[in-house]
Amino acid sequence: MTLKFHNTLTGHLDEFISQTPGQVSLYTCGPTVYDYPHIGNWAAYIYWDILVRTLIANDYNVTRVMNLTDVGHLVSDADEGEDKLEKGARREGKTAWEVAKFYSNVFLEGMNRLGLIMPQYITPATEYIPQQIDMVRTLKAKGVTYQIDDGIYFDTSKFPRYADFAHLDLDALQAGARVEFNPQKRNPSDFALWKFTPNGEKRDMEWEFDGRMGFPGWHIECSAMALAHLGKTLDIHTGGIDHIPVHHTNEIAQSETANGVRFSNYWMHNNFLKVDGSKFSKSLGNGYTLDNLEAKGYSLLDFRMFLLQGHYKSESNFTFDNLTSARNRLNNWRNIATLRHQIHDTLQDDNEKGNDDKSISLYATSQAIIEAVNNDLGTPEALKIIDDAFSKIVNAKLTNIHRQAFVQLIETIDAVLGLQLMNTTPDISDDIKRIILERNQARADKDWSKSDKLRDQLLTEGIVIRDTNSEAIWEYKN
Ligand code: AMP
Ligand code: ZN
Repeated sequence: MTLKFHNTLTGHLDEFISQTPGQVSLYTCGPTVYDYPHIGNWAAYIYWDILVRTLIANDYNVTRVMNLTDVGHLVSDADEGEDKLEKGARREGKTAWEVAKFYSNVFLEGMNRLGLIMPQYITPATEYIPQQIDMVRTLKAKGVTYQIDDGIYFDTSKFPRYADFAHLDLDALQAGARVEFNPQKRNPSDFALWKFTPNGEKRDMEWEFDGRMGFPGWHIECSAMALAHLGKTLDIHTGGIDHIPVHHTNEIAQSETANGVRFSNYWMHNNFLKVDGSKFSKSLGNGYTLDNLEAKGYSLLDFRMFLLQGHYKSESNFTFDNLTSARNRLNNWRNIATLRHQIHDTLQDDNEKGNDDKSISLYATSQAIIEAVNNDLGTPEALKIIDDAFSKIVNAKLTNIHRQAFVQLIETIDAVLGLQLMNTTPDISDDIKRIILERNQARADKDWSKSDKLRDQLLTEGIVIRDTNSEAIWEYKN
């Protein structure tokens, strides 16, 4: 099967070929851990979770690094203003270290709550200071840096391809450079590799480099940590589209100058999630967190379902109405997934049934789902394929469904999309199972009043019983 991704580096949908067969090295730019992530931030990590799942479904062994930016990301991407961690520290009356620890934990817990596959390496920038200093030294030795009052900068005019990745118009950037831009910088696009602690100040987070205290610029951490764990050339590097013109452009300039080879063969960028048609913003009160969604009675899988309805490269719009319809769709899928418990193996002799139309189409559905995501993570298409298959299942007699193919389909949906449909059983306690069986018996005995009573009892437990000609099917109440 061919895998294809839209590659920002070439601007095309490129066939994916890893450097080493069967192995993928993947780097994901992680969060700045100074505040609660909003669901727009989480959207990015859910999209990249689908990328990891797709690679695994294609039998790749994925080695992935994701950084936690816990120092050096300044309020403005142009190396100006306060460090976001120090801002967080002031807001909360804590040290930058305490803030970093707290929000790193919030983030890692969030990854678990969302069922995201954990990267092999989660690397806080503060734990890789020597590696970052090493890279600054290498760049210094190559003559592409210069020192000014507030730090050591990368001279972007020394990297001739600087404008290529993001198709930057450097002349326009020069013309548009504001007066308040650091006048000591040689070019507006030059960026800090290392910043000095201002004279007479003491920062919570600072390290000694060549006899002076300071801290790393934001971009160098990704170049240094990618090198530390994945080597000089990555297979895939991911991030948000906001990273293309500055952060990733700078990572490329640093890494390719220091290492002398291409930094990443594929670059993938997710588009932004909006909320009610506008940007997420604290001041508008729409910076919803995972807790906010749960407090309103939604599950985080509802949110995953909502996101997968859109494509990672398109802008999506979050509204609670959209989230409600995603929840309904997911509940419906869960109901259908539970039908597998009601298909009896005794009715399903694989040898007899293995070649009927139904089973063939369900195995093919699993395949079609993987093909959909193999085509640049086409989750909307994958969801349509599942809807079609599920509506066929609902309209079929259970005895005509090949149980193994059905279970394999649900497992594929879970593996590739992370929707946890297989987990729909543990919700049903043994008590409920017992009541269902008792009711089946009552019906067999034609004891209608007992069977009605048990049905009402199940309803109060959130289980709806649907009697068909051949059997009684239970579902979760929507
Ligand atoms: P930050 O913590 O600000 O560095 O952001 C973490 C990640 O979230 C970055 O990769 C951003 O590209 C991404 N991001 C921020 N806002 C959104 C959004 N509204 N939709 C999708 N991704 C976003
Ligand atoms: Zn990065």
